[in-house]
Amino acid sequence: MVPVAYDVVVIGGGPGGYVAAIRCAQLGLNTACVESWTNPEGRGVLGGTCLNVGCIPSKALLDSSHQFHHFKHEAVRHGINNAGVTMDVSRMMKRKDQIVHSLTQGISTLLRKNKVTWIKGQGRLVGPDQVAVEPLHKGHDEKTLISARHIILATGSLPAPLSVAPVDEQLIVNSTGALSFPSVPRRLGIIGAGVIGLELGSVWQRLGSEVTLLEAETQFLPLADQQLANETLKVLKKQGLQIEMGAKVVGTGCDNRQVTVRYETADGKQQLTVEKLIVAVGRIPNSASLGAADCGLELDAKGFIRVDNNCQTNLPNVYAIGDVVRGPMLAHKASEEGVAVAERIAGIGATHCDFSHIPWVIYIWPELAWAGQTEQQLRAAGVDYRVGVFPMLASGRAQASGETQGMVKMLCDARSDRILGVHVLAANASELITEAVVAMAFAGSSEDLARTIHAHPTLTEAMHEAALAVDKRALHF
Ligand code: FAD
Ligand code: AMP
Repeated sequence: MVPVAYDVVVIGGGPGGYVAAIRCAQLGLNTACVESWTNPEGRGVLGGTCLNVGCIPSKALLDSSHQFHHFKHEAVRHGINNAGVTMDVSRMMKRKDQIVHSLTQGISTLLRKNKVTWIKGQGRLVGPDQVAVEPLHKGHDEKTLISARHIILATGSLPAPLSVAPVDEQLIVNSTGALSFPSVPRRLGIIGAGVIGLELGSVWQRLGSEVTLLEAETQFLPLADQQLANETLKVLKKQGLQIEMGAKVVGTGCDNRQVTVRYETADGKQQLTVEKLIVAVGRIPNSASLGAADCGLELDAKGFIRVDNNCQTNLPNVYAIGDVVRGPMLAHKASEEGVAVAERIAGIGATHCDFSHIPWVIYIWPELAWAGQTEQQLRAAGVDYRVGVFPMLASGRAQASGETQGMVKMLCDARSDRILGVHVLAANASELITEAVVAMAFAGSSEDLARTIHAHPTLTEAMHEAALAVDKRALHF
């Protein structure tokens, strides 16, 4: 077998890997991207978890279910006659599948345009400069050995299994199965009230499921600002989601029609019977197929590839990025690391990624988004801070569009006025948060945002007013 030589070989074609590959190619490096994902027809596809079974299909279903719920329950307030609104689940799924198809096709076009070689197969590290590729269809294509001056590992993550609720793809599924239910389950159970559990629960609840989420922790969304987390919990419960905190699932039993979930709360042993059960208890790094032990690649106790601030592994010229390394499991984090590593390899960038202002979004409705520090973090660190809060109810644009739930909360250093954290529960919070991220990236203050003219009437005025509120001079509240 004659090894083919590249400047860079990327293993994994998700938002970490394909972005790293494109950036490497833009910088003149001869680059290949090895990807093992196959679509339901058995064809190799790019895009990873994010495009195939993550960010994109979940947002497609969240948007469809939001529109359905709006027409069914809210539109009447606008004077729209909503008689006869029904949901065709198979068309909704077809639309979602078409979006996934077109976007994953788009990535292959981008790789082609940038002259990145796409190698379909399973990559395994056989040394700091060699990757063995097992073809997708064994026996059909040949196994190859590729040599590379630099290797980027971007193999992502997988749904965390829960031994007491083994996935059978019929009654018990993980997030992937929950993106393809053929019909609306009458009763749906979800283990885990984290980001994925809440988003999937919202989809099916809007379509008519009776949804119960069981969450082992007693604190709801521990990473979010607790004032907004508590508000979010209230809003979701009002929408009809049943969320049981401090509920640890200890066992499940299936007959051929339903699942019985056994769980424990402070009140003792409990039981829930559902038509479908989603296991959404987090994700684990996908490092098992890489051959780490054989080539001396260091993993931590949980299976994450150990890296330094520059995503450098313990092996020379081998980098790792995205979900398979420490840090938030977010697509934009993976991509940013991909760009930084590509620039480091090309010798034009010496920076590491700064994740202190990375935006987090939970695409429930209203959306919850934040960047920077929470009030509980500032208190724990003994930081002297000022708070500005503006309720969406006081926004003219929110009133006009009927989206008055939620608030914007801004936290600033008491002496310098530098913005330390911004938390938004509002319609389109995923878009609104970017203003705060940019302000923080430029070390901005509440005064900077207060003196920035915001268009009227827009939801962004709530950000402006929260900035004014930090100095107790909000104009509309
Ligand atoms: P992945 O996207 O997992 O890609 C890794 C790729 O590597 C895969 O394609 C895999 O096939 C390939 N691979 C693995 N091993 C090998 C091998 N040995 N050889 C060849 N190829 C290999 N994040 C957000 O930021 N926003 C969201 O709204 C969001 N929603 C989500 C919703 C759901 C339901 C889920 C499950 C996740 C969501 N995420 C979201 C998380 C996001 O999908 C991940 O953070 C992101 O995909 C990580 O990118 P990555 O490139 O590190 O890994
Ligand atoms: P995330 O990591 O945001 O996807 O959230 C996963 C959630 O699942 C976490 O909040 C965990 O506390 C929760 N979880 C994990 N195991 C169990 C269990 N056995 N029963 C209920 N919730 C669980």
